[in-house]
Amino acid sequence: MVIGGAIISGSGPVQHSVDPRTGERLGPGYGAASPDESSAACAAAAGAATAYRNTPPHERARFLEVIAEEIDARAEALIARATRETALPNPRISGEVSRTSNQLRLFAAELREGSYEQLRVDPAQRDRMPQPRSDIRQRRIPVGPVAVFGASNFPLAFSTAGGDTASALAAGCPVVVKAHPAHLGTAEIVGRAIAAAARATGMPDGVFSQVVGAGNESGARLVADPRIRAVGFTGSRGGGLALQRIAQERDIPIPVYAEMSSINPVIVLPGALAERAGQLGRDYAASLTLGAGQFCTNPGIILGIDSAELNVLTDAATDAITEDAGGTMLSTSIADTYRRGVQRLRDHGARELAAGAAPDTAAGASAHLFTVGASEFVAQPALRDEVFGAASIVVRCSGIAELTSVLSALEGQLTATIHAAPADGADVAALLPVLEDLAGRIIVNGWPTGVEVGHAMVHGGPFPATTDGRSTSVGSAAIERFLRPVAYQDIPPELLPRELAHAETVTAPLRLDGRMVVPEPEQEGL
Ligand code: NAP
Repeated sequence: MVIGGAIISGSGPVQHSVDPRTGERLGPGYGAASPDESSAACAAAAGAATAYRNTPPHERARFLEVIAEEIDARAEALIARATRETALPNPRISGEVSRTSNQLRLFAAELREGSYEQLRVDPAQRDRMPQPRSDIRQRRIPVGPVAVFGASNFPLAFSTAGGDTASALAAGCPVVVKAHPAHLGTAEIVGRAIAAAARATGMPDGVFSQVVGAGNESGARLVADPRIRAVGFTGSRGGGLALQRIAQERDIPIPVYAEMSSINPVIVLPGALAERAGQLGRDYAASLTLGAGQFCTNPGIILGIDSAELNVLTDAATDAITEDAGGTMLSTSIADTYRRGVQRLRDHGARELAAGAAPDTAAGASAHLFTVGASEFVAQPALRDEVFGAASIVVRCSGIAELTSVLSALEGQLTATIHAAPADGADVAALLPVLEDLAGRIIVNGWPTGVEVGHAMVHGGPFPATTDGRSTSVGSAAIERFLRPVAYQDIPPELLPRELAHAETVTAPLRLDGRMVVPEPEQEGL
């Protein structure tokens, strides 16, 4: 664990990661945090909050860049350990190492660019009639210490130094990570990298802590700690909702940004089916089985209008799934939950079209393809619950009206996808507003798996995709979750924060009396 800059072993029960291929317990053992150690991590974060919040953005940017360098320098060890702990293949993990360090660099660039503070200045109008106007200036400040829960399916890019940690540190918030129990060794390597970067850049000791847990109480304790001011989480709906409940029941409730559950509907319109039904079926199976289906953006249902062309798509997907070799899932408990989910689909009337093979490993699992009519799908809420893994349902609709009624029955989603040809233009136009209401990201003629980390990305969506659909957990806009606005009215310039006192010289993008102004190119950068 890392607590207040020190690397320590927790005094609670010893935890082990498990190799999901062999079921073998991996060394070393990691002592879990006792309640006192957990509290010490929160105290260290609170103790660092003011000093860290006051670090100039370019110093925080440097801190993030040095974390990226420290992670890149440990790439070999990370790949060796994370592939053992997760059974994810070497190319996937090495891609995730660079995604993680590039994500940190993206937030460093965001800090240097400056618009994240959303500066606004309404200059005084002392002789305005009938009432004079005060000088009012606004900026965003960090919310304070953030608790981060890493995701099992992204052991690097959404774990110890992943998107939640990077965006909270960029915002100026100290972070306390609850290490994911399935990849403790990976968490240790990354935790050491962050601690080294904090030391090298002179950040306050409590800016980053990481605790190991022993069961649900450990995370619950972090969220209940009054010094924690916000939570970032990726994982199960049950886990996210449990933490949200704890956060709401505190004397002072705090926001929980939990990314939880999504079945990511894909719509195939008649024109697209007429053009390329077989290809769509093969591509659907490829997107479904990618990474043993362990993506939050996995296509859990595909909707089409009952027709010979939809049969061509289904037949092509059936062939591909039947030939699929399956994969080893992230843990035996995730594989067990997946198998129960597949059985739930059978038990609620979905007809199984295809089952692939499964590797002979502890967490080995096979892909499954189902089909069901639209009316049965709407009548059975259990068919609309996420099955995390490579299982999906082809939902057959009688026409666009029924397809739209299926969409209305769905809960909030991370993504919604349409496959269309030019002939489908009117249907696409009619569906877009429905999909805007439903999902955080709308895709045309692509597949939902694969999330670009950039400025315009939204990885979020209405409940239960997330607990707060007004935000994204991927991309530079994720920083907004950990900032809150403060207005300064008639504060003398010498007492104002630097960026507001001299705002009229425009060193960062600024809304000046309602009009957006940006720095001259030579003034850019802090
Ligand atoms: P998880 O079980 O929700 O665990 C995520 C983190 O939250 C872990 O650190 C876990 O640690 C903690 N946690 C879980 N329940 C908690 C509770 N009630 N109180 C306090 N802390 C809690 O998720 P997972 O291990 O990553 O995967 C399990 C399932 O999550 C999958 O089968 C899948 O259904 C879903 N999942 C969804 C996505 C997605 O993006 N939609 C991604 C990954 C997983 P402890 O267990 O030590 O408490």
